[in-house]
Amino acid sequence: MSTKTIEEKQYLIRFRADTKSHLTVLDHDICNTNCPDKLCTLFCPGEVYKWEGTRMQVGYEGCHECGSCRIGCPYENIKWEYPLGGHGIVFRLA
Ligand code: SF4
Ligand code: SF4
Repeated sequence: MSTKTIEEKQYLIRFRADTKSHLTVLDHDICNTNCPDKLCTLFCPGEVYKWEGTRMQVGYEGCHECGSCRIGCPYENIKWEYPLGGHGIVFRLA
């Protein structure tokens, strides 16, 4: 059995993005004042979260639906839902 790198595995996923985000940062001021390391920008495998000075940008279209931000934000500042049916990540078998 061959072993694939993370980069090779990334080629096996596609996204069917909805027009509405299934992820919401509830209070950007909490990110600004209480979370200097902006932890979600570090642990999210999809690089969904990007800090842009005063606000957290959420590129929900690339979410892997791993759920890490649901439990990883120390301030429970991310509202996490699954995308609506028919949307979100699509896994292809190699
Ligand atoms: S981990 Fe939570 S509090 Fe910290 S920057 Fe991300 S959303 Fe904001
Ligand atoms: S569920 Fe996973 S991939 Fe999606 S935004 Fe949260 S940490 Fe990133």
